[in-house]
Amino acid sequence: MARYAYRCDTDGPVEVVRPIGTAPATVDCPSCGATASRVFTAPMLGLADRGRMGLIDRTTASAHEPQVVSAPPPRPLRRDAPAPHPATRRLPRP
Ligand SMILES: [Zn+2]
Repeated sequence: MARYAYRCDTDGPVEVVRPIGTAPATVDCPSCGATASRVFTAPMLGLADRGRMGLIDRTTASAHEPQVVSAPPPRPLRRDAPAPHPATRRLPRP
């Protein structure tokens, strides 16, 4: 749903909530019944939540510019690796 702005000549601004893309050019004013013509305003993007807008931007960008990795992630450093058993020293290692 979207809010569409109209202006009545006698009552001033009128807001109508309708599904996106279904706004007619004129509506009847709820106060006086006269024809109110549509007014185009700037989108209210500044009032959106930054976290949500960032998520939407990243999701949209990932469809066109997916992040590609060039190598597998580095293996974690094993500091406390146990010493190999002398009997298994000759076995092949992965
Ligand atoms: Zn009116």
